[in-house]
Amino acid sequence: MKNEKAGLYIHIPFCQSKCAYCNFYSITSVNLIPQFVAALVKEIKLSKGILDSFDTIYIGGGTPSVLTSRQIAEIITAINKFFKIESKAEITLEVNPGDLSLEYLKSLRSLGINRLNIGVQSFDNKILRFLGRRHNANEARQAIQDARTAGFKNLGIDLIYAIRGQSITVWEKTLAEAISCKPEHLSCYQLTLETNTPLYKKYREEKIKGLSENRHNKSFFTTAEELEKAGYIHYEVSNFARNDKFKSKHNIKYWNHIPCLGLGPAAHSFLKNKRWWNYASVKYYLEILARGERPVESQELLTKEQLKLETLFLGLRTSKGIDLKLYKKRFYTDLLEDKKNVIESLLINKLVEVKNNHLRPTLAGMAMADSLALI
Ligand code: SF4
Repeated sequence: MKNEKAGLYIHIPFCQSKCAYCNFYSITSVNLIPQFVAALVKEIKLSKGILDSFDTIYIGGGTPSVLTSRQIAEIITAINKFFKIESKAEITLEVNPGDLSLEYLKSLRSLGINRLNIGVQSFDNKILRFLGRRHNANEARQAIQDARTAGFKNLGIDLIYAIRGQSITVWEKTLAEAISCKPEHLSCYQLTLETNTPLYKKYREEKIKGLSENRHNKSFFTTAEELEKAGYIHYEVSNFARNDKFKSKHNIKYWNHIPCLGLGPAAHSFLKNKRWWNYASVKYYLEILARGERPVESQELLTKEQLKLETLFLGLRTSKGIDLKLYKKRFYTDLLEDKKNVIESLLINKLVEVKNNHLRPTLAGMAMADSLALI
């Protein structure tokens, strides 16, 4: 991992409206966007020198597509002015189908954005309404078509499944339609009920029941099976790529402890054994940057044991698993010996396997990735 270039994450903390299931940090006061962009440019300038050069940029949120193309251009210009960006960098922007026009997409492409992640979530209007999304299925279809016309050759589609009221057949239909769009990348997330969301509240009031573990597993295996049949590589619990070239280079950095700089409210950064994060408040963010300071709220220094556990937790979410040689080189200990009892029980239950000097999760292990983290 020595020569790995760093990743740059920019958090755009605005959404036109909040979705019922979402606990990402974002606010709906879009009138603050011009002030925010000016503050972000300041933060970029103040962060010069923390990390040398980047080969991935990920602009996420929130909803980055609530910004005009001119505002996005301002951000990209500042990034190029103060950071060294590799010429072939992967530059991703998250977009919401409801915000897009062909003209807007063409201008994003001309700014150098070469990977688009479209938050489709479902091709079923009933499910989209249940999730509280702003767009409908036709807008999602149009967005994909327009993105292709605008020249995007690396397109990702985000979908949500395992939703109460969504039968396996309805999910299979959405999945089939997504496959027919031939995206280079698909992220399929199981719906989780996060505390402090309207959906969680409804759930607590017993208006909605969660899905059984059985249904969760069935949905997971159907998803993996259908996408594999369609030729996608299942390279992380929720992520599928048409081939190796289209795996998300940016996200792979998070799973491998590669240095990443996160800018914008609530963004996290990682370097060596240090993790730090910004205030999850646009108000503080603007105030602190107005004083000319970086809006870092706090930091933690990870111990060797914490780094080992994270390596396990993150590695067992990926189909590649944990490289045993690299693990030994990094931590001076043999993983299979270090965690002998737990790994033996995972091996007996066929949740992991040792292959080509890697400890990898089986498909059943991937389905239980969150529990594997309890090692
Ligand atoms: S658009 Fe995305 S970030 Fe915004 S509320 Fe919906 S899920 Fe959350």
